[in-house]
Amino acid sequence: MNAIRIDGKAIAELLRARVAHDVALLQAECNVTPGLAVVLVGEDLASSVYVKTKARQAQAAGFKSQQFLLPSNVGEAELLELIEELNADVSIDGILIQLPLPGHVDRWRVLEAINPAKDVDGFHPYNVGRLAAGRPALAPCTPLAVVHLIKTVVTDLSGLDVVVIGRSNIVGKPLALLLGDAGCTVTGAQLQTRNLPDLCRKADIVVAAAGWAELVRGDWLKPGVIVIDVGINRAIDSVGTVKLVGDVAFTEASKRASYITPVPGGVGPMTVAYLLANTVNAAVSRRGLSWLMNPDARHVWPSSVREKNRAVDLQQAT
Ligand code: NAD
Repeated sequence: MNAIRIDGKAIAELLRARVAHDVALLQAECNVTPGLAVVLVGEDLASSVYVKTKARQAQAAGFKSQQFLLPSNVGEAELLELIEELNADVSIDGILIQLPLPGHVDRWRVLEAINPAKDVDGFHPYNVGRLAAGRPALAPCTPLAVVHLIKTVVTDLSGLDVVVIGRSNIVGKPLALLLGDAGCTVTGAQLQTRNLPDLCRKADIVVAAAGWAELVRGDWLKPGVIVIDVGINRAIDSVGTVKLVGDVAFTEASKRASYITPVPGGVGPMTVAYLLANTVNAAVSRRGLSWLMNPDARHVWPSSVREKNRAVDLQQAT
């Protein structure tokens, strides 16, 4: 078997086009331009690239996009003050603090300072709690991206066995919740998990989000499995070139899987596209607007995810 690649780059382009359409609609019908503020602390190269990409794509989709570049020695109080200003700024619908933050800053104090209605990363405990309770919430972008990619190749997830490798707050845990809501039987694996290859061999879908280069081997997979590779790892190839590899041994896995996402070009581009989709959702929700004014505009999100994000008045949270 030779797996079909799920082209995250092309699917993300469609999602971004849909978001741009929604932004134009919001501007035309409601005089609203969604605003996204991205805050970067320090000069980490990878983080700067991510922030520039997010800002560029936000602008291209018609958002008001603002970047705040703070020095690595910025005080926690100063950062909290900026978040307070952004919380109060009516033109800002989404606030994203690029992680990681420097060690002297309390990451949780900062994330919890964000107004949950503007928490487009879906990391605030308010949104985490609502997601866990099956209530409408702003959910984290990477898990939304993974569910969307799976839904491009399988329409009904109910009853499927899924192994999610990794249970971080930003990927594995929320993803397990979303997949459980979609009717999957989810096994959440982590570093301490025993017999991971055996668990994977029983799964209809394997999602790898461990941050461990090429952890998942071809002989861990049952024929026909769907493989979603979230991992982004730097590896050096045989001629000494640094390249990006995922958590899945791609060539081996492609011989067993029916569908597989590549790295790069799989989950990554979709994650950024969902940041934009979440910002539109936040703009709509904060104003108590409803996509019902234009049913076409509701096609952006797969139905279960869409239902969670649509027409939610998160203002209750503030
Ligand atoms: P993390 O380090 O916070 O969590 C890793 C999780 O994987 C932990 O639960 C850990 O127990 C588990 N784990 C690690 N090694 C394991 C092993 N050998 N077997 C089983 N479980 C193992 O990482 P994270 O922030 O969730 O990110 C995971 C990976 O996904 C990283 O490579 C990261 O760069 C990537 N990532 C990609 C995107 C994207 O948009 N594509 C977004 C977020 C994270």
